[in-house]
Amino acid sequence: MTSETLDLLVRNARLRRVAAPLVDIGVADGRIVAIGEGLGASARDEIDAEGGLVTESFVNPHLHLCKAWTLPMMDGAALAAYHGAGMGKALQAIDLASAIKAKYDAAWIAPNARRATALAALHGVLHIRAFADVDNKARLEGVKALIAVRDEFRGVVDLQVVAFAQDGLVREPGADRLMEEAMAIGADVVGGIPWIEFCDDDAREHIAFCFDLAAKHDADISMLLDDAGDPGLRTLEMMATETLRRGWSGRALAHHCRAMALYPSPYLQRLSGLLRKARISVVSDPHTGPLHARVRDLIEEGVNVCLGQDDISDAYYPFGRNNMLEVAFLAAHLLWMTGRDDLERLYDMTTVAPANAINLARYGLAVGAQANLVVLGEPDVVEALRFHAPPRHVVSHGRRVDLARMRELAAASAGDALDKNAADLRSRSVGADATARQGSVVDPARALGGMGNGSGGATG
Ligand SMILES: [Zn+2]
Repeated sequence: MTSETLDLLVRNARLRRVAAPLVDIGVADGRIVAIGEGLGASARDEIDAEGGLVTESFVNPHLHLCKAWTLPMMDGAALAAYHGAGMGKALQAIDLASAIKAKYDAAWIAPNARRATALAALHGVLHIRAFADVDNKARLEGVKALIAVRDEFRGVVDLQVVAFAQDGLVREPGADRLMEEAMAIGADVVGGIPWIEFCDDDAREHIAFCFDLAAKHDADISMLLDDAGDPGLRTLEMMATETLRRGWSGRALAHHCRAMALYPSPYLQRLSGLLRKARISVVSDPHTGPLHARVRDLIEEGVNVCLGQDDISDAYYPFGRNNMLEVAFLAAHLLWMTGRDDLERLYDMTTVAPANAINLARYGLAVGAQANLVVLGEPDVVEALRFHAPPRHVVSHGRRVDLARMRELAAASAGDALDKNAADLRSRSVGADATARQGSVVDPARALGGMGNGSGGATG
């Protein structure tokens, strides 16, 4: 290989856990083709990392992207129910939060999702498993919006769109047909929430339907499990046994699992064995609820555990900006993972662990892998977590991401956009709908009614 063949050369990169001198990373045809000291003299594009840490890009395995920026459209009742009473009223919270879906329209969901995805790019998050509610209120509006945004950002931020039966399947007659349609129009992943059904038999029926649908479309499965303060919830075990029975090992992903916090340790040990056998990873989001999966115990038991953003300014969580370093920073406190090894582990839980959980191919900082990289302004993981600042450069599919463009796309200030959202959804939807049909990345400032102020949400 000579330097002439390189599309991109990242110079003076510091690698994790490597005390050796700075290295260069050569990229051609979207792949990493060389890592070493003093590679070649030139390439078509060069980035000087200036001794900053260079790692794989971040992965967000769990985001309710159809709900991003909808908090001002809600009163506070759902949030209070979700976070209060030891999560004893989580079911009620979901019912309260569903009220917003009467207003669901792809025309306003797409601009919101576009802003959130641009923020992801600015923070070096290049893969997102993005959930879209599918039920009688939401219909297919969320799925259509996320598919449109997925297609716009392909090759910059890759979205896996989850058709998610948020309000249940047995207790929500008609949701099954909508889920079939969602997969037929291009959703990537089958999403379930069996614990929300009224009894265990119905939860099993819910799970069986999701596996049938996944088999039909050769799709992965993501399920929100046991997301309430009830130690009797057992849908993680149900999904794991079904995974083994159906031969779907490695293709079913578990989210939330908050009831696990209340499980007796002997049961958790037994359950962990089942998770290992079925190759089920667990996504935890300890910042979005007062209970969380027993991350440390699962790690000790050899289960793959990762972190998710979960929500961005919706009925369940007021903050969030698709910054996985921020998520890891919060998790460090909530999980009390503050030792040097813990911090390295947290970084893994936002990179390699979720990449494994959502089955990304050719992911990693290695020769032959797809060149998805972040060039940070800090020299190590501790400093990166301390500041949880956006990367200085982001490389996606071997090309430098146009961060100025992403800043533009994310530019409408949250407050303006949200006020506007609540005030006149309908009037905004006209222009946005027209642009969405054009199938290209559009300026959200225009889509959102000319409110962009250029301040850039990513660093706010
Ligand atoms: Zn969630």
